[in-house]
Amino acid sequence: MICKQCLKDLPETDFRPYVSRSKGIRTSTVGHNTICKKCESINCMVTRVWRQGAKNPKEQQLLDSAASYYKCLKEAGGDPLGAYARYILDKPEVHGVRSNIDKMLEEMALKVTPADKVIEGYKALAEEQLVDIPDVYQAKLEALREQSLGKDGKILTAYKPFYDKLVEKLDDYEDNYVWKKPVN
Ligand SMILES: [Zn+2]
Repeated sequence: MICKQCLKDLPETDFRPYVSRSKGIRTSTVGHNTICKKCESINCMVTRVWRQGAKNPKEQQLLDSAASYYKCLKEAGGDPLGAYARYILDKPEVHGVRSNIDKMLEEMALKVTPADKVIEGYKALAEEQLVDIPDVYQAKLEALREQSLGKDGKILTAYKPFYDKLVEKLDDYEDNYVWKKPVN
């Protein structure tokens, strides 16, 4: 069995049998605890010292070491239990910071993705083989331009170089394009 806290693979005898506390089956063993006996006793002692308050440097050292130990385990993928571990790992402000970061990441992802798509559009058009009548490409450029506008109606700085380059390329193409004579 792997201990959920210290992540060590230990024999079943290192885990305390879990006894259901529901009525009627109080005495029946329904499995084993998810953390090993050693982790349980660490958590037990640390939580007791923390609740009573460290009374000497040694106890303070125990709390400090336990705090970094719990953080290490958590980073390694462990799930330390006990009131002190919860206090160290799940401080409300830490949660707040985390969810704010998540929100900002989502926000940035939303703003970056469409921008990338527009740039991809410019790049695709820049690489396109020009064989059709110029209007086809001018229409594509116009569609991209519409997606590139900021609130002030001007092309955003991020797209300006792509746009300018294509205007030049398409104007060149148009200037040199040999129109077929209309069939009478
Ligand atoms: Zn363990």
